[in-house]
Amino acid sequence: MKILLVEDSKATAMVMIARLESFGHEVEHALSGLVAVESFQKSTYDLILMDIEMPGMNGFETTTRIRALEGNEAWAWTPIIFVTATDTPTNLVTAIEAGGDDFISKMAPEGVLQAKMKAMSRIAAMRARLAQANRKLQDQANRDGLTGLFNRRAMDMQIDSLWDRATSIAEPFSLLMIDVDNFKKYNDHYGHLAGDDCLRAVANCLRDTVQQVNDDKTTRGAFVARYGGEEFAVIIPHAACGTHAGLAYHIVEAVAALRLPHEKNADWGVVTISIGGVCADPASGSVGVLFQKADTLLYKAKDAGRNRAELD
Ligand code: GH3
Ligand code: MG
Ligand code: MG
Ligand code: MG
Repeated sequence: MKILLVEDSKATAMVMIARLESFGHEVEHALSGLVAVESFQKSTYDLILMDIEMPGMNGFETTTRIRALEGNEAWAWTPIIFVTATDTPTNLVTAIEAGGDDFISKMAPEGVLQAKMKAMSRIAAMRARLAQANRKLQDQANRDGLTGLFNRRAMDMQIDSLWDRATSIAEPFSLLMIDVDNFKKYNDHYGHLAGDDCLRAVANCLRDTVQQVNDDKTTRGAFVARYGGEEFAVIIPHAACGTHAGLAYHIVEAVAALRLPHEKNADWGVVTISIGGVCADPASGSVGVLFQKADTLLYKAKDAGRNRAELD
């Protein structure tokens, strides 16, 4: 385990560190409560061993501070064991109230310390597994199953915070709404499974094209999401207005260049898309208005014959 030992006495700390290291743990030492809080902010630990009597901030206050810094998630909980010379019942109650998990006497035989460390190691391993499972679940919840792109939910969540940021620093914000042309006819002609393959191919093309402009530093942090059905959205949070037009034309060409056969797509003969794109000044308007404008422009692109982008 990676342990943070909070102990104001250098002599006691030396003995403790030697013991803990002999059990195979990695120990960082904080000489005061304040240093412990700073270390906790910078790093993560499997366990904190906390002295009670310390000049300045004592162990109880330090624990209260650390608990206030943690998130509410179960895996964010770092076990804290108080290690003290005065293991009175009152101290035990106060320790638990402050957010501590256990209590051990400085006089405890080596076997007791070792046993407690063993129990804590099991908890640390479980927390690591829980955190990993949670990361996986969160990722799954944010991805669209068919294309692997961000789904609508993830996009909505990101847009809100990106829009707030753009508003606060007066940065432009662009949105492209993308819709596959005559896709109902594609399904009717080639079948729904082929339709799914087509959507995957279009999604990959969108992702690669957006990735390219991010890599070229034309845009920064632009991303694609599956908006729903055969509709996709590209969010361009930081780039100057005008960049969105270049990217939109580029995407239209890139999808047509895939040359995926689509006999029923007017005269084009291949799968194409239409785009409605807007760049907004966040000082005026809202995300909702932005989507409405992009949608209107998308319909204009459809009316004008498809396989094109209409921009504000
Ligand atoms: P337009 O050019 O005007 O956009 O015409 P369209 O046929 O593409 O538009 P419409 O909205 O009439 O049809 C969209 C079709 O997309 C209908 C629906 O069955 C299909 N679709 C939506 N989601 C999926 C999917 O996940 N897989 C497949 N295969 N088809 C889908
Ligand atoms: Mg002390
Ligand atoms: Mg549609
Ligand atoms: Mg369509």
